[in-house]
Amino acid sequence: MISFSSPLTSIPGIGPKISEKLSKLKLQTVKDVLYYFPFRYLDFSKISKISELSDGQIATVYGKIEKVSIYKTFHKKMWIVEATISDETGKVKAVWFNQKFLINTLKEGKTANFAGKVFLQKKYFTFQNPMFEMIADEFQETRHTGRLVPVYPQTEGVTSKMIRFVVSKILPYFKDSPEFLPEEAVEKFNFPSLSDAFAQIHYPDTEEQAKQAEKRFSFQDLFLLQLINASEKENLLRQESYSCNYTPEQVKKIISVIPFELTLGQKKALYEILEDVKKNYPTSRLLQGDVGSGKTIVAAIASLIVAQNGNQAVLMAPTEVLARQHYETFKKYFSAQNKNVLNEGELIGCGVALMTSAQSIVFYGDGLESKVKKNELINKTKSGEIKIIIGTHSVIQKNVVLKNPALVIIDEQHRFGVKQRSKLVSEKEMIPHFLSMSATPIPRTLALTAFGDLDLSIIGELPKNRKPIITKAVNSSNRQKAYDFVSQQIKSGRQAFVICPRIEPPDPEAPLTSRQLFNLEVKSVKEEYEKLSKKIFPQFKIVALHGRMKSAEKQKIMEAFRNKEYDILVSTSVIEVGVDIPNATIMLIEGSEHFGLSQLYQFRGRVGRGEHQSYCLLFSDINSKTTAYRMKALVNAKNGFELAEIDLKLRGPGQFLGQEQSGLPDLAMKAIQNPQLIQSARDSAYEIIKSDPELKNHPYLSAYTKQFKNQIHLE
Ligand code: ADP
Ligand code: MG
Repeated sequence: MISFSSPLTSIPGIGPKISEKLSKLKLQTVKDVLYYFPFRYLDFSKISKISELSDGQIATVYGKIEKVSIYKTFHKKMWIVEATISDETGKVKAVWFNQKFLINTLKEGKTANFAGKVFLQKKYFTFQNPMFEMIADEFQETRHTGRLVPVYPQTEGVTSKMIRFVVSKILPYFKDSPEFLPEEAVEKFNFPSLSDAFAQIHYPDTEEQAKQAEKRFSFQDLFLLQLINASEKENLLRQESYSCNYTPEQVKKIISVIPFELTLGQKKALYEILEDVKKNYPTSRLLQGDVGSGKTIVAAIASLIVAQNGNQAVLMAPTEVLARQHYETFKKYFSAQNKNVLNEGELIGCGVALMTSAQSIVFYGDGLESKVKKNELINKTKSGEIKIIIGTHSVIQKNVVLKNPALVIIDEQHRFGVKQRSKLVSEKEMIPHFLSMSATPIPRTLALTAFGDLDLSIIGELPKNRKPIITKAVNSSNRQKAYDFVSQQIKSGRQAFVICPRIEPPDPEAPLTSRQLFNLEVKSVKEEYEKLSKKIFPQFKIVALHGRMKSAEKQKIMEAFRNKEYDILVSTSVIEVGVDIPNATIMLIEGSEHFGLSQLYQFRGRVGRGEHQSYCLLFSDINSKTTAYRMKALVNAKNGFELAEIDLKLRGPGQFLGQEQSGLPDLAMKAIQNPQLIQSARDSAYEIIKSDPELKNHPYLSAYTKQFKNQIHLE
C-alpha cells in the first residue's frame, strides 16, 4: 500500500536513480513530493491553430510530425534537431539545440503537443526548444503541454520536467485521501478536498483553482499550528504552579513609592499579570509595549508580589548591559520599598540578585549590597533566600536550582519558550508562570500565529511626560549641519548615540567588493570612532562600544556613559534593546538602510526618555526609492505597530522572529496578512481541542499534527 511515508521508489516507474536525484531537494517520501509545490505555472492551456500563431507568442500547438532532421552548426559545432509540424491549418518549425537524443523520440508521422515561445524567422514560425509531449489519442492526459504546467524550484540535475513526471506518477494514489480539516472551515472558505487540492496545486485546471488549493494548504498549516498551540495550552491547564495572591492594598502600597503615576496600559497589564500568577496552573503571557512604555516597572511590581508570597521570580535579559540595568532599576525601586515597607516586615529576607557570567551580586536593602562568589549565589538561590533573580542566560544554567519559582520573565527574546522554561524547573513538578516582554511591535496576525500559545497584554501608550522625537533623514550634503547641531546639543549638556552597522572596517587584504568600489562602504564603529574623536568632535569625550567586547568592559562603558563621563557613544546595534539613558537626546544612525524599520524604531526609542526634546538623525548613503519610503514611514509613524505592519509588507515576517528561522512553514507565513484565515484557523483549532483535548476522536488529524510538529520543530 502506498502511503504518505512510502519511499519514492515504492511507486512503480520511479527507480533508485530518480529517487537519488530528488533526495538532493530533500524529497524522500511520497508526502515530500506531494507537498513540494510549484512556485508558478506556465500557461499552455490553450491549444492554438498553427495559422493563428503570432511572433513572440507563448503557445501550444497540436500537430503531426512531418519531417525530422539533425545537423551540426558550422561555427559552434552544436547539434541541432529540427522538425516540421503540421495541423490542418498550416506548418510550423521547431528547433532544439544540443539535444541530439531527441531524434529517438520525435518520430515522423506521430502526433504531439509542442509548447513554448514562437518566433517568426524568415517566413516560418519557429518554436525554440519547445516542450513536447507525444499524444497517442485525444483522451490522453498531458503533463507538460496543453494545460497549466507547474514550474518547481529546481536544482542541478533535477528539472521541473523530472518533478512533473514524479508528481504525476504519485497523484493517482491519492485520489481519495481522508479529509482532516473541520467541515465548517472547508465549507466556509469553499476549500477543495485534500486530494483535489493536491491535484489542483500541481496540475490546476485554472489559475483560480490553483489559488484555492494554495489557500487550503495555507489554512491547513495555520490550523495545525494553532492546534499545537491549543493543545499545549490545554496541557498546561493540567499542570501545577505556585499560586501567588495579592490584595489591592498591597499593590497600592507598593505603587505609592513610585515617583510617577502608572499609565492606564501599565495598570491593565499589571492586573492581567497579577491575575495570571494567582492561578494554580501555569500561565503564559506576552507583554508588548513600545520602547519606553515602561514594561520594567510592571515586571518589578509583579516580581515583588511574588516575593511577598514567599516565592521566587526570575527576570532574564538578553545582554549583560540590560541585565545590569534591570538590576539597577529593581535595586533603586526596592530601596524605596524598603524605606516605606520594611518596617512592617514584608520584605525581610527578600534578596535581589544579579546573576550573569561576569558577576554575581546580592542586594537586601540600602547599604546591603555585596559581590559574592558564584557558588554562594547559587546556594542562596537554592535555599530560597534570594527571591528575585535577575540575569542573562546564566540563570538557566544546569547548576542553578530554584527553590520555588512562581514567575519567569523574559525580556526581549521572542522565541524563548516552553523548552527553556522547563530548564528552569528541572525535576520539579511546579511550573512557573511565564511572562515574555517585547518592545518589538509584532503585527497581531503574526503574534497569534507564532505565539498563539501566549495571552496578549499590550501597553498602548507612552508615559505622558514624553515629547515626540523629532526624526530627520539627513543626506550627505547636510552632514556638516547635522554635526553642528549635535555639537550644540552636547554643549548644552546632552549626550548622543551614534549607531553604525558594523564593528570593523573591511579587511584591506580582502578582495575589493563592489560596495567599496563605489564608495558605498558600510560604516564601522572603529572607523567612525576615529573620525569623530580626531576630526569632527575633538573637543568632546567619545567612546566606542560593540558586541565583541568583554561584557565587563561593555558594562563599564555603559555606566560611564550613564554617569556622563562621555558625550558620545559610538556603537553597533548592541545597544538596541532596552537601554535607558534619559540625558541622551541624539540618536544618529549611520547606514540606516541596513536596518529594518522596527529596528530603527528601537534605536530611536533609546532617546526621548527624559524631559529634553530629543532627535533621531538618519544618515543613508543610498538614495533608493525604498529607502526614501522607509524613512518617510519612520518619520511619520505614530507607533511601532504601524511600522511593524509596513515592515511585514516590505521585508516579510522573518525579521520579527529573531535571527533564526521562524520555524514556521512558508505557506503559513504567506497567509500572515490574512487575518480572517488566521482567526478561523484559530477558532477551529481551539474548538476541537476543547471537545477532544487528546484528539482521540480525530485519529487522522492527530497523526497529521504529530508529523507536522516534527516537521516544523517548534522549539
Ligand atoms: P521599556 O518598556 O522600553 O522596557 P522601561 O521600562 O525601560 O521601558 O521604561 C522607560 C523609562 O520610563 C524608565 O526610565 C522608567 O522609569 C520610565 N517610566 C516607566 N513608567 C513610567 C510612567 N508611568 N511615567 C513616567 N515614566 C515612566
Ligand atoms: Mg525594556
